Amino acid sequence: MSEDHVVVIGAGMAGLVSALQLGHRGFKVTVVDPSDQPGGKMRQAHVNGASIDSGPTVFTMRWVFEQIYASVGERLTDHLKLDQLSVLGRHAWRDGSTLDLFADPDRSRHAIEVFAGPEEARRFESFCQLIRKVYDTLEGPYIREANPSALNLSQSIGLKGLGVLNSLGAFQSMWRSLGRQFKDERLQQLFARYATYCGSSPWEAPATLMLIAQVELDGVWSVQGGIHALAKNLEALARQRGVTFRYNTWCDKIQTQSNRVSGVTLRDGETLACEHVVFNGDASALRQGLLGEEVTASVPSKNNTRSLSAVTWSVHARTSGFALDRHNVFFQDDYAQEFKSIFGAANLPNKPTVYVCAQDRGTQATITGKERLLCLINAPAVGDGRRLTQEMIQACQTQTFSLLQDFGLKVHAGPEDLICNTPMSFHQRYPGTGGALYGQATHGWMAAFARPNSRSQMPGLYLAGGSVHPGPGMPMAALSGRMAAEALMGDRNSTKKFHAAGTYGGTLTQ
Ligand SMILES: Cc1cc2nc3c(=O)[nH]c(=O)nc-3n(C[C@H](O)[C@H](O)[C@H](O)COP(=O)(O)OP(=O)(O)OC[C@H]3O[C@@H](n4cnc5c(N)ncnc54)[C@H](O)[C@@H]3O)c2cc1C
Repeated sequence: MSEDHVVVIGAGMAGLVSALQLGHRGFKVTVVDPSDQPGGKMRQAHVNGASIDSGPTVFTMRWVFEQIYASVGERLTDHLKLDQLSVLGRHAWRDGSTLDLFADPDRSRHAIEVFAGPEEARRFESFCQLIRKVYDTLEGPYIREANPSALNLSQSIGLKGLGVLNSLGAFQSMWRSLGRQFKDERLQQLFARYATYCGSSPWEAPATLMLIAQVELDGVWSVQGGIHALAKNLEALARQRGVTFRYNTWCDKIQTQSNRVSGVTLRDGETLACEHVVFNGDASALRQGLLGEEVTASVPSKNNTRSLSAVTWSVHARTSGFALDRHNVFFQDDYAQEFKSIFGAANLPNKPTVYVCAQDRGTQATITGKERLLCLINAPAVGDGRRLTQEMIQACQTQTFSLLQDFGLKVHAGPEDLICNTPMSFHQRYPGTGGALYGQATHGWMAAFARPNSRSQMPGLYLAGGSVHPGPGMPMAALSGRMAAEALMGDRNSTKKFHAAGTYGGTLTQ
Protein backbone atom coordinates (compact mmCIF):
# COMPACT_ATOMS: atom_id res chain seq x y z
CA MET A 1 0.00 0.00 0.00
CA SER A 2 1.11 3.56 -0.71
CA GLU A 3 0.01 6.56 1.29
CA ASP A 4 0.44 8.71 -1.80
CA HIS A 5 -2.67 10.44 -3.05
CA VAL A 6 -3.21 10.60 -6.82
CA VAL A 7 -5.84 12.90 -8.34
CA VAL A 8 -6.96 11.80 -11.79
CA ILE A 9 -8.48 14.73 -13.69
CA GLY A 10 -11.04 13.26 -16.07
CA ALA A 11 -12.96 9.97 -16.11
CA GLY A 12 -12.40 9.28 -19.82
CA MET A 13 -10.99 5.97 -21.00
CA ALA A 14 -7.40 6.76 -20.03
CA GLY A 15 -8.38 8.31 -16.69
CA LEU A 16 -10.42 5.22 -15.79
CA VAL A 17 -7.60 2.86 -16.74
CA SER A 18 -5.02 4.87 -14.79
CA ALA A 19 -7.30 5.03 -11.75
CA LEU A 20 -7.96 1.29 -11.91
CA GLN A 21 -4.27 0.44 -12.21
CA LEU A 22 -3.24 2.78 -9.40
CA GLY A 23 -6.11 1.75 -7.15
CA HIS A 24 -5.12 -1.88 -7.72
CA ARG A 25 -1.55 -1.08 -6.62
CA GLY A 26 -2.83 0.45 -3.39
CA PHE A 27 -2.64 4.16 -4.13
CA LYS A 28 -5.29 6.45 -2.72
CA VAL A 29 -6.98 7.70 -5.90
CA THR A 30 -9.61 10.41 -6.46
CA VAL A 31 -11.09 10.92 -9.93
CA VAL A 32 -12.79 14.23 -10.72
CA ASP A 33 -14.92 14.81 -13.81
CA PRO A 34 -17.51 17.45 -14.76
CA SER A 35 -19.95 14.90 -16.15
CA ASP A 36 -22.46 12.90 -14.11
CA GLN A 37 -21.22 9.61 -15.60
CA PRO A 38 -17.91 7.91 -16.30
CA GLY A 39 -16.43 7.57 -19.80
CA GLY A 40 -15.74 11.09 -21.12
CA LYS A 41 -16.35 10.73 -24.86
CA MET A 42 -17.76 7.22 -24.28
CA ARG A 43 -21.03 8.81 -23.23
CA GLN A 44 -24.62 8.00 -23.84
CA ALA A 45 -27.32 10.45 -24.83
CA HIS A 46 -30.89 9.79 -23.75
CA VAL A 47 -33.50 10.40 -26.42
CA ASN A 48 -37.12 9.51 -25.75
CA GLY A 49 -36.03 7.06 -23.09
CA ALA A 50 -33.49 5.35 -25.38
CA SER A 51 -29.83 5.31 -24.32
CA ILE A 52 -27.67 5.94 -27.36
CA ASP A 53 -23.89 5.57 -27.52
CA SER A 54 -22.92 9.02 -28.73
CA GLY A 55 -19.15 8.82 -28.84
CA PRO A 56 -17.09 5.84 -29.96
CA THR A 57 -19.02 3.02 -31.57
CA VAL A 58 -16.33 0.89 -33.24
CA PHE A 59 -14.71 -1.42 -30.67
CA THR A 60 -11.38 -2.82 -31.89
CA MET A 61 -8.07 -4.11 -30.45
CA ARG A 62 -9.84 -6.32 -27.96
CA TRP A 63 -6.44 -7.61 -26.78
CA VAL A 64 -5.69 -4.21 -25.22
CA PHE A 65 -8.67 -4.55 -22.89
CA GLU A 66 -8.01 -8.21 -22.20
CA GLN A 67 -4.51 -7.29 -21.03
CA ILE A 68 -5.72 -4.37 -18.92
CA TYR A 69 -8.29 -6.53 -17.18
CA ALA A 70 -5.72 -9.31 -16.69
CA SER A 71 -3.27 -6.82 -15.18
CA VAL A 72 -5.70 -6.22 -12.31
CA GLY A 73 -6.56 -9.90 -11.90
CA GLU A 74 -9.84 -9.81 -13.85
CA ARG A 75 -11.12 -11.39 -17.04
CA LEU A 76 -12.75 -9.11 -19.60
CA THR A 77 -15.34 -11.72 -20.58
CA ASP A 78 -16.45 -12.16 -16.95
CA HIS A 79 -17.63 -8.55 -17.04
CA LEU A 80 -18.66 -7.70 -20.59
CA LYS A 81 -20.37 -9.61 -23.35
CA LEU A 82 -18.65 -8.90 -26.65
CA ASP A 83 -20.04 -10.07 -29.98
CA GLN A 84 -17.78 -10.11 -33.01
CA LEU A 85 -19.47 -8.50 -36.00
CA SER A 86 -19.39 -10.42 -39.26
CA VAL A 87 -19.83 -7.21 -41.28
CA LEU A 88 -17.13 -4.64 -40.43
CA GLY A 89 -18.79 -1.86 -42.37
CA ARG A 90 -21.31 -1.18 -45.13
CA HIS A 91 -20.17 1.47 -47.62
CA ALA A 92 -22.37 3.26 -50.14
CA TRP A 93 -21.63 5.65 -53.00
CA ARG A 94 -23.86 8.06 -54.87
CA ASP A 95 -23.75 5.95 -58.03
CA GLY A 96 -25.80 3.36 -56.14
CA SER A 97 -22.90 0.96 -55.55
CA THR A 98 -22.40 -0.60 -52.13
CA LEU A 99 -19.63 -2.68 -50.61
CA ASP A 100 -19.51 -4.60 -47.34
CA LEU A 101 -16.22 -5.46 -45.72
CA PHE A 102 -16.33 -8.61 -43.64
CA ALA A 103 -14.45 -10.07 -40.70
CA ASP A 104 -13.72 -13.00 -43.00
CA PRO A 105 -11.11 -11.75 -45.54
CA ASP A 106 -12.23 -14.26 -48.17
CA ARG A 107 -15.74 -12.80 -48.09
CA SER A 108 -14.27 -9.27 -48.44
CA ARG A 109 -12.14 -10.40 -51.35
CA HIS A 110 -15.14 -11.91 -53.07
CA ALA A 111 -17.25 -8.80 -52.41
CA ILE A 112 -14.51 -6.61 -53.92
CA GLU A 113 -14.31 -8.86 -56.95
CA VAL A 114 -18.05 -8.41 -57.54
CA PHE A 115 -17.79 -4.68 -56.79
CA ALA A 116 -14.69 -3.72 -58.79
CA GLY A 117 -13.44 -6.77 -60.68
CA PRO A 118 -10.77 -9.46 -60.17
CA GLU A 119 -7.78 -7.11 -60.57
CA GLU A 120 -8.95 -4.96 -57.66
CA ALA A 121 -9.65 -8.09 -55.62
CA ARG A 122 -6.03 -9.16 -56.20
CA ARG A 123 -4.86 -5.67 -55.22
CA PHE A 124 -6.93 -5.94 -52.05
CA GLU A 125 -5.14 -9.17 -51.20
CA SER A 126 -1.74 -7.52 -51.68
CA PHE A 127 -2.92 -4.52 -49.68
CA CYS A 128 -3.96 -6.80 -46.80
CA GLN A 129 -0.55 -8.50 -46.83
CA LEU A 130 1.19 -5.13 -46.80
CA ILE A 131 -0.79 -3.55 -43.97
CA ARG A 132 -0.44 -6.73 -41.92
CA LYS A 133 3.33 -6.30 -42.19
CA VAL A 134 3.09 -2.57 -41.42
CA TYR A 135 1.01 -3.27 -38.32
CA ASP A 136 3.35 -6.04 -37.14
CA THR A 137 6.33 -3.76 -37.71
CA LEU A 138 4.88 -0.89 -35.68
CA GLU A 139 2.91 -2.55 -32.87
CA GLY A 140 5.86 -3.23 -30.57
CA PRO A 141 8.23 -0.34 -31.30
CA TYR A 142 5.53 2.32 -31.62
CA ILE A 143 2.11 1.43 -30.19
CA ARG A 144 3.37 -0.40 -27.09
CA GLU A 145 6.48 1.74 -26.61
CA ALA A 146 6.05 4.42 -23.96
CA ASN A 147 8.43 6.93 -25.47
CA PRO A 148 9.02 6.32 -29.17
CA SER A 149 11.19 8.55 -31.33
CA ALA A 150 11.95 8.35 -35.04
CA LEU A 151 15.51 7.28 -34.21
CA ASN A 152 14.52 4.57 -31.70
CA LEU A 153 11.89 3.30 -34.05
CA SER A 154 14.23 2.94 -36.99
CA GLN A 155 16.75 1.16 -34.74
CA SER A 156 14.15 -1.27 -33.39
CA ILE A 157 12.52 -2.15 -36.68
CA GLY A 158 15.85 -2.60 -38.44
CA LEU A 159 16.43 -2.90 -42.16
CA LYS A 160 13.58 -5.39 -42.57
CA GLY A 161 11.06 -3.02 -40.98
CA LEU A 162 12.37 -0.07 -42.94
CA GLY A 163 11.89 -2.14 -46.09
CA VAL A 164 8.25 -2.74 -45.15
CA LEU A 165 7.64 0.97 -44.56
CA ASN A 166 9.43 1.78 -47.77
CA SER A 167 7.22 -0.53 -49.81
CA LEU A 168 4.22 1.30 -48.35
CA GLY A 169 5.70 4.67 -49.32
CA ALA A 170 5.68 5.66 -45.65
CA PHE A 171 6.81 9.21 -46.31
CA GLN A 172 3.96 9.79 -48.74
CA SER A 173 0.47 10.87 -47.82
CA MET A 174 -2.04 8.13 -47.19
CA TRP A 175 -4.10 9.23 -50.20
CA ARG A 176 -1.11 9.04 -52.54
CA SER A 177 0.02 5.70 -51.22
CA LEU A 178 -3.50 4.27 -51.59
CA GLY A 179 -3.50 5.49 -55.19
CA ARG A 180 -0.65 3.03 -55.72
CA GLN A 181 -2.55 0.19 -54.03
CA PHE A 182 -5.90 0.53 -55.83
CA LYS A 183 -7.08 1.70 -59.24
CA ASP A 184 -10.73 2.07 -58.25
CA GLU A 185 -11.08 5.44 -56.54
CA ARG A 186 -13.95 4.19 -54.39
CA LEU A 187 -11.57 1.73 -52.71
CA GLN A 188 -8.98 4.48 -52.31
CA GLN A 189 -11.70 6.55 -50.61
CA LEU A 190 -12.87 3.68 -48.40
CA PHE A 191 -9.40 2.94 -47.01
CA ALA A 192 -8.39 6.63 -46.86
CA ARG A 193 -11.26 7.25 -44.46
CA TYR A 194 -9.28 5.44 -41.75
CA ALA A 195 -7.19 8.63 -41.42
CA THR A 196 -10.27 10.25 -39.89
CA TYR A 197 -10.15 7.75 -36.99
CA CYS A 198 -7.14 9.83 -35.95
CA GLY A 199 -8.97 13.05 -36.79
CA SER A 200 -6.76 13.65 -39.82
CA SER A 201 -7.03 14.33 -43.53
CA PRO A 202 -5.98 11.45 -45.81
CA TRP A 203 -4.21 14.08 -47.93
CA GLU A 204 -1.98 15.09 -45.00
CA ALA A 205 -1.77 11.90 -42.94
CA PRO A 206 1.25 9.66 -43.46
CA ALA A 207 0.69 6.35 -45.22
CA THR A 208 1.60 4.53 -41.99
CA LEU A 209 -1.86 5.39 -40.64
CA MET A 210 -3.11 2.59 -42.86
CA LEU A 211 -2.33 0.37 -39.90
CA ILE A 212 -5.73 1.51 -38.60
CA ALA A 213 -7.31 -0.48 -41.44
CA GLN A 214 -5.46 -3.55 -40.14
CA VAL A 215 -6.81 -2.92 -36.66
CA GLU A 216 -10.34 -3.05 -38.06
CA LEU A 217 -9.65 -6.06 -40.29
CA ASP A 218 -8.48 -7.84 -37.11
CA GLY A 219 -12.01 -7.60 -35.75
CA VAL A 220 -14.79 -5.28 -34.65
CA TRP A 221 -16.97 -6.13 -31.69
CA SER A 222 -20.20 -4.83 -30.26
CA VAL A 223 -20.44 -4.50 -26.50
CA GLN A 224 -23.68 -5.66 -24.94
CA GLY A 225 -25.20 -2.70 -23.11
CA GLY A 226 -23.29 -0.34 -25.38
CA ILE A 227 -19.76 1.03 -25.32
CA HIS A 228 -20.72 2.97 -22.23
CA ALA A 229 -20.98 -0.37 -20.38
CA LEU A 230 -17.19 -0.63 -20.67
CA ALA A 231 -16.76 2.74 -18.96
CA LYS A 232 -19.20 1.77 -16.21
CA ASN A 233 -17.42 -1.52 -15.65
CA LEU A 234 -13.96 0.08 -15.44
CA GLU A 235 -15.41 2.54 -12.92
CA ALA A 236 -16.96 -0.29 -10.86
CA LEU A 237 -13.66 -2.23 -10.79
CA ALA A 238 -11.82 0.92 -9.73
CA ARG A 239 -14.36 1.57 -6.94
CA GLN A 240 -13.86 -2.01 -5.71
CA ARG A 241 -10.19 -1.08 -5.32
CA GLY A 242 -11.00 1.95 -3.22
CA VAL A 243 -10.96 4.66 -5.92
CA THR A 244 -13.23 7.63 -5.17
CA PHE A 245 -15.17 9.30 -7.99
CA ARG A 246 -16.34 12.89 -7.75
CA TYR A 247 -18.66 13.79 -10.60
CA ASN A 248 -20.08 17.21 -11.55
CA THR A 249 -16.67 18.51 -10.54
CA TRP A 250 -14.28 20.58 -12.63
CA CYS A 251 -10.65 20.95 -11.66
CA ASP A 252 -9.52 24.54 -12.23
CA LYS A 253 -5.91 24.44 -11.15
CA ILE A 254 -3.01 22.10 -10.62
CA GLN A 255 -0.97 23.41 -7.74
CA THR A 256 2.77 23.07 -7.39
CA GLN A 257 5.28 23.56 -4.60
CA SER A 258 9.06 23.51 -4.97
CA ASN A 259 8.62 22.65 -8.63
CA ARG A 260 6.47 19.55 -8.21
CA VAL A 261 2.77 18.82 -8.04
CA SER A 262 1.25 19.43 -4.62
CA GLY A 263 -2.51 19.44 -5.15
CA VAL A 264 -5.47 20.57 -7.22
CA THR A 265 -8.09 23.27 -6.80
CA LEU A 266 -11.65 22.37 -7.70
CA ARG A 267 -14.11 24.89 -9.16
CA ASP A 268 -15.94 25.31 -5.84
CA GLY A 269 -12.63 26.39 -4.27
CA GLU A 270 -11.91 23.13 -2.46
CA THR A 271 -8.29 21.99 -2.50
CA LEU A 272 -7.25 18.36 -2.69
CA ALA A 273 -3.66 17.86 -1.60
CA CYS A 274 -1.90 15.15 -3.58
CA GLU A 275 1.53 13.92 -4.55
CA HIS A 276 0.65 13.07 -8.16
CA VAL A 277 -1.83 14.15 -10.82
CA VAL A 278 -2.85 12.21 -13.92
CA PHE A 279 -4.35 14.69 -16.37
CA ASN A 280 -6.83 13.01 -18.74
CA GLY A 281 -8.06 16.20 -20.42
CA ASP A 282 -6.59 17.34 -23.73
CA ALA A 283 -2.92 18.31 -23.38
CA SER A 284 -3.65 21.60 -25.16
CA ALA A 285 -5.70 22.71 -22.11
CA LEU A 286 -2.49 22.61 -20.06
CA ARG A 287 -0.58 24.56 -22.71
CA GLN A 288 -3.30 27.20 -22.80
CA GLY A 289 -3.00 27.76 -19.06
CA LEU A 290 -6.49 26.42 -18.31
CA LEU A 291 -5.11 24.45 -15.36
CA GLY A 292 -3.04 27.35 -14.06
CA GLU A 293 0.11 29.17 -15.06
CA GLU A 294 2.35 26.89 -13.02
CA VAL A 295 1.86 23.95 -15.37
CA THR A 296 1.58 25.80 -18.70
CA ALA A 297 5.11 24.91 -19.74
CA SER A 298 4.80 21.30 -18.62
CA VAL A 299 3.78 20.13 -22.12
CA PRO A 300 5.78 21.76 -24.90
CA SER A 301 3.92 22.15 -28.17
CA LYS A 302 5.40 20.44 -31.21
CA ASN A 303 2.26 20.36 -33.37
CA ASN A 304 -0.52 22.90 -33.42
CA THR A 305 -2.93 21.47 -35.97
CA ARG A 306 -6.14 20.50 -34.28
CA SER A 307 -7.70 17.22 -35.32
CA LEU A 308 -11.23 16.89 -36.66
CA SER A 309 -14.27 17.81 -34.70
CA ALA A 310 -17.73 16.54 -35.65
CA VAL A 311 -21.38 17.33 -35.79
CA THR A 312 -23.30 14.34 -34.45
CA TRP A 313 -26.95 13.45 -34.08
CA SER A 314 -28.07 10.88 -31.53
CA VAL A 315 -31.36 9.70 -32.96
CA HIS A 316 -34.21 7.46 -31.82
CA ALA A 317 -36.43 7.00 -34.86
CA ARG A 318 -37.78 4.67 -37.49
CA THR A 319 -35.76 4.33 -40.69
CA SER A 320 -36.71 3.12 -44.15
CA GLY A 321 -35.42 2.80 -47.69
CA PHE A 322 -31.86 1.53 -47.11
CA ALA A 323 -30.77 -1.77 -45.60
CA LEU A 324 -28.59 -0.50 -42.77
CA ASP A 325 -26.02 -2.71 -41.09
CA ARG A 326 -24.41 -1.67 -37.80
CA HIS A 327 -21.65 0.54 -39.24
CA ASN A 328 -22.58 2.41 -42.41
CA VAL A 329 -20.67 4.99 -44.42
CA PHE A 330 -22.25 7.15 -47.12
CA PHE A 331 -19.58 8.64 -49.38
CA GLN A 332 -19.94 11.73 -51.57
CA ASP A 333 -18.22 12.13 -54.95
CA ASP A 334 -15.62 14.79 -54.12
CA TYR A 335 -13.75 13.45 -51.09
CA ALA A 336 -10.92 15.99 -51.36
CA GLN A 337 -13.37 18.88 -51.08
CA GLU A 338 -14.49 17.69 -47.63
CA PHE A 339 -10.98 18.06 -46.21
CA LYS A 340 -10.29 21.31 -48.07
CA SER A 341 -13.40 22.80 -46.42
CA ILE A 342 -12.49 21.52 -42.96
CA PHE A 343 -8.72 21.99 -42.75
CA GLY A 344 -8.33 24.70 -45.43
CA ALA A 345 -11.33 26.97 -44.98
CA ALA A 346 -12.35 25.91 -41.44
CA ASN A 347 -15.91 25.48 -42.69
CA LEU A 348 -18.48 22.73 -42.43
CA PRO A 349 -18.24 20.63 -45.59
CA ASN A 350 -21.09 21.15 -48.07
CA LYS A 351 -21.35 17.52 -49.00
CA PRO A 352 -19.88 15.49 -46.15
CA THR A 353 -19.34 11.77 -45.85
CA VAL A 354 -21.99 10.60 -43.38
CA TYR A 355 -21.34 7.80 -40.89
CA VAL A 356 -24.39 6.12 -39.39
CA CYS A 357 -24.07 3.67 -36.52
CA ALA A 358 -27.29 1.67 -36.27
CA GLN A 359 -26.75 0.36 -32.76
CA ASP A 360 -29.53 -2.20 -32.70
CA ARG A 361 -28.23 -3.91 -35.81
CA GLY A 362 -25.44 -6.34 -36.52
CA THR A 363 -26.29 -8.80 -33.81
CA GLN A 364 -30.08 -8.60 -33.74
CA ALA A 365 -32.00 -9.92 -36.72
CA THR A 366 -35.01 -7.67 -37.17
CA ILE A 367 -35.82 -4.11 -36.21
CA THR A 368 -39.41 -3.19 -35.64
CA GLY A 369 -40.30 0.41 -34.91
CA LYS A 370 -37.77 2.95 -33.73
CA GLU A 371 -34.07 2.27 -33.63
CA ARG A 372 -31.02 3.97 -32.12
CA LEU A 373 -28.65 5.78 -34.45
CA LEU A 374 -25.55 7.90 -34.13
CA CYS A 375 -25.08 9.97 -37.29
CA LEU A 376 -21.78 11.80 -37.67
CA ILE A 377 -20.08 14.14 -40.10
CA ASN A 378 -16.57 15.55 -39.77
CA ALA A 379 -16.29 19.25 -38.92
CA PRO A 380 -13.58 21.81 -38.20
CA ALA A 381 -12.45 22.27 -34.59
CA VAL A 382 -13.61 25.86 -34.32
CA GLY A 383 -15.93 25.45 -31.35
CA ASP A 384 -14.10 28.10 -29.34
CA GLY A 385 -14.76 30.81 -31.94
CA ARG A 386 -17.82 32.39 -33.46
CA ARG A 387 -17.42 30.83 -36.86
CA LEU A 388 -20.28 28.38 -36.64
CA THR A 389 -23.75 29.76 -35.96
CA GLN A 390 -26.90 27.94 -34.90
CA GLU A 391 -28.33 28.65 -38.37
CA MET A 392 -25.32 26.97 -40.00
CA ILE A 393 -25.74 23.90 -37.79
CA GLN A 394 -29.45 23.76 -38.60
CA ALA A 395 -28.71 24.03 -42.34
CA CYS A 396 -26.06 21.32 -41.97
CA GLN A 397 -28.61 19.05 -40.28
CA THR A 398 -31.14 19.53 -43.09
CA GLN A 399 -28.42 18.92 -45.69
CA THR A 400 -27.05 15.80 -43.96
CA PHE A 401 -30.40 14.05 -43.66
CA SER A 402 -31.24 15.07 -47.22
CA LEU A 403 -27.92 13.56 -48.42
CA LEU A 404 -28.93 10.33 -46.68
CA GLN A 405 -32.24 10.44 -48.56
CA ASP A 406 -30.29 10.60 -51.82
CA PHE A 407 -29.05 7.12 -50.86
CA GLY A 408 -32.62 6.08 -50.16
CA LEU A 409 -32.26 6.26 -46.37
CA LYS A 410 -35.12 8.11 -44.72
CA VAL A 411 -34.77 8.82 -41.01
CA HIS A 412 -38.27 9.53 -39.69
CA ALA A 413 -37.16 11.85 -36.89
CA GLY A 414 -38.90 14.92 -35.53
CA PRO A 415 -37.04 17.52 -33.46
CA GLU A 416 -37.84 15.62 -30.25
CA ASP A 417 -36.24 12.44 -31.62
CA LEU A 418 -32.68 13.70 -31.81
CA ILE A 419 -29.92 15.44 -29.89
CA CYS A 420 -27.27 17.32 -31.82
CA ASN A 421 -23.67 17.83 -30.71
CA THR A 422 -21.43 20.39 -32.34
CA PRO A 423 -17.82 21.61 -32.17
CA MET A 424 -19.11 24.14 -29.62
CA SER A 425 -20.64 21.55 -27.28
CA PHE A 426 -17.57 19.32 -27.64
CA HIS A 427 -15.35 22.30 -26.81
CA GLN A 428 -17.34 22.94 -23.63
CA ARG A 429 -16.91 19.34 -22.53
CA TYR A 430 -13.27 19.03 -23.60
CA PRO A 431 -11.69 22.42 -22.85
CA GLY A 432 -8.78 23.72 -24.85
CA THR A 433 -9.77 21.76 -27.96
CA GLY A 434 -12.14 23.89 -30.03
CA GLY A 435 -14.07 20.61 -30.21
CA ALA A 436 -11.15 18.62 -31.71
CA LEU A 437 -11.93 15.06 -30.72
CA TYR A 438 -8.63 13.31 -31.38
CA GLY A 439 -5.91 15.60 -29.98
CA GLN A 440 -3.63 17.10 -32.61
CA ALA A 441 -4.00 15.97 -36.23
CA THR A 442 -1.53 13.36 -37.46
CA HIS A 443 -0.37 15.42 -40.43
CA GLY A 444 3.10 14.71 -41.80
CA TRP A 445 5.13 11.63 -40.97
CA MET A 446 6.74 13.19 -37.86
CA ALA A 447 3.37 14.07 -36.24
CA ALA A 448 3.13 10.66 -34.60
CA PHE A 449 6.31 11.51 -32.67
CA ALA A 450 5.14 15.02 -31.75
CA ARG A 451 2.54 13.83 -29.23
CA PRO A 452 3.58 14.22 -25.63
CA ASN A 453 4.18 11.01 -23.75
CA SER A 454 2.90 10.20 -20.29
CA ARG A 455 5.57 12.14 -18.36
CA SER A 456 5.09 15.89 -18.41
CA GLN A 457 7.93 18.25 -17.64
CA MET A 458 6.44 18.99 -14.22
CA PRO A 459 7.45 16.31 -11.70
CA GLY A 460 4.36 14.56 -10.38
CA LEU A 461 2.18 15.48 -13.39
CA TYR A 462 1.35 12.65 -15.82
CA LEU A 463 -0.65 12.77 -19.04
CA ALA A 464 -3.12 10.21 -20.32
CA GLY A 465 -5.65 10.26 -23.14
CA GLY A 466 -6.22 10.59 -26.84
CA SER A 467 -4.05 13.70 -27.17
CA VAL A 468 -0.93 11.91 -25.92
CA HIS A 469 1.02 8.90 -27.15
CA PRO A 470 0.00 6.44 -28.61
CA GLY A 471 -2.90 8.60 -29.80
CA PRO A 472 -6.70 8.69 -30.08
CA GLY A 473 -9.25 5.90 -30.15
CA MET A 474 -10.43 3.88 -27.16
CA PRO A 475 -7.71 1.22 -27.19
CA MET A 476 -4.92 3.75 -27.69
CA ALA A 477 -6.29 5.96 -24.92
CA ALA A 478 -6.54 2.88 -22.70
CA LEU A 479 -2.88 2.08 -23.41
CA SER A 480 -1.92 5.65 -22.56
CA GLY A 481 -3.78 5.35 -19.25
CA ARG A 482 -1.74 2.29 -18.46
CA MET A 483 1.49 3.98 -19.54
CA ALA A 484 0.74 6.98 -17.27
CA ALA A 485 0.10 4.71 -14.28
CA GLU A 486 3.29 2.78 -14.98
CA ALA A 487 5.36 5.95 -15.39
CA LEU A 488 3.98 7.24 -12.07
CA MET A 489 4.69 3.99 -10.27
CA GLY A 490 8.11 3.76 -11.84
CA ASP A 491 9.04 7.27 -10.71
CA ARG A 492 7.62 6.55 -7.27
CA ASN A 493 9.71 3.38 -7.12
CA SER A 494 12.88 5.11 -8.10
CA THR A 495 12.48 8.03 -5.68
CA LYS A 496 11.02 6.27 -2.65
CA LYS A 497 11.94 2.61 -3.19
CA PHE A 498 8.26 1.89 -3.24
CA HIS A 499 7.55 -1.80 -3.54
CA ALA A 500 4.78 -1.72 -6.07
CA ALA A 501 4.15 -4.27 -8.76
CA GLY A 502 4.39 -1.87 -11.69
CA THR A 503 7.06 -1.99 -14.35
CA TYR A 504 8.61 1.25 -15.41
CA GLY A 505 8.15 3.10 -18.69
CA GLY A 506 9.63 1.03 -21.50
CA THR A 507 7.45 -1.26 -23.49
CA LEU A 508 4.20 -2.75 -22.26
CA THR A 509 5.04 -6.39 -22.11
CA GLN A 510 1.93 -8.13 -20.93
C1 LIG B 1 -18.25 11.14 -31.74
C2 LIG B 1 -17.01 10.32 -31.48
C3 LIG B 1 -16.84 9.12 -32.16
C4 LIG B 1 -15.70 8.35 -31.92
N1 LIG B 1 -15.60 7.12 -32.51
C5 LIG B 1 -14.65 6.25 -32.09
C6 LIG B 1 -14.72 4.88 -32.43
O1 LIG B 1 -15.66 4.44 -33.11
N2 LIG B 1 -13.75 4.04 -31.95
C7 LIG B 1 -12.76 4.48 -31.12
O2 LIG B 1 -11.92 3.67 -30.68
N3 LIG B 1 -12.68 5.78 -30.77
C8 LIG B 1 -13.60 6.67 -31.22
N4 LIG B 1 -13.59 7.97 -30.79
C9 LIG B 1 -12.43 8.45 -30.04
C10 LIG B 1 -12.47 7.97 -28.59
O3 LIG B 1 -13.73 8.18 -28.05
C11 LIG B 1 -11.46 8.76 -27.79
O4 LIG B 1 -10.19 8.76 -28.42
C12 LIG B 1 -11.27 8.22 -26.38
O5 LIG B 1 -12.49 7.81 -25.80
C13 LIG B 1 -10.64 9.35 -25.59
O6 LIG B 1 -10.43 8.98 -24.27
P1 LIG B 1 -9.61 9.91 -23.31
O7 LIG B 1 -8.95 9.04 -22.33
O8 LIG B 1 -8.78 10.85 -24.10
O9 LIG B 1 -10.70 10.73 -22.50
P2 LIG B 1 -11.88 11.68 -22.92
O10 LIG B 1 -12.99 10.85 -23.42
O11 LIG B 1 -11.41 12.79 -23.76
O12 LIG B 1 -12.31 12.21 -21.49
C14 LIG B 1 -11.58 13.18 -20.79
C15 LIG B 1 -12.42 13.63 -19.61
O13 LIG B 1 -11.67 14.61 -18.90
C16 LIG B 1 -12.58 15.61 -18.48
N5 LIG B 1 -11.86 16.85 -18.19
C17 LIG B 1 -11.20 17.65 -19.04
N6 LIG B 1 -10.73 18.73 -18.39
C18 LIG B 1 -11.11 18.60 -17.10
C19 LIG B 1 -10.94 19.40 -15.93
N7 LIG B 1 -10.30 20.56 -15.96
N8 LIG B 1 -11.49 18.97 -14.77
C20 LIG B 1 -12.15 17.78 -14.71
N9 LIG B 1 -12.33 16.98 -15.78
C21 LIG B 1 -11.83 17.39 -16.96
C22 LIG B 1 -13.52 15.75 -19.67
O14 LIG B 1 -14.71 16.43 -19.36
C23 LIG B 1 -13.72 14.28 -20.04
O15 LIG B 1 -14.81 13.74 -19.32
C24 LIG B 1 -14.71 8.79 -31.01
C25 LIG B 1 -14.89 10.01 -30.34
C26 LIG B 1 -16.03 10.75 -30.56
C27 LIG B 1 -16.25 12.00 -29.77
